[in-house]
Amino acid sequence: MWEHLVCANCAGPVSEGRCRVCRASRERMDREGRPVSPALLVALAALVVLAALLVPRMAG
Ligand SMILES: [Zn+2]
Repeated sequence: MWEHLVCANCAGPVSEGRCRVCRASRERMDREGRPVSPALLVALAALVVLAALLVPRMAG
């Protein structure tokens, strides 16, 4: 679970809510119930596929 996630801003556990970023992350995760939403994963996967298709064309 996300209790053990470390904040990129303050390097403290997100669950402790030490900084603004921690608290925002915690609120978002509370709403979604998980660190990364499936929709976000799908969007990222689509982006990777798109990049894989486009980059060789630009390079060539
Ligand atoms: Zn933080």
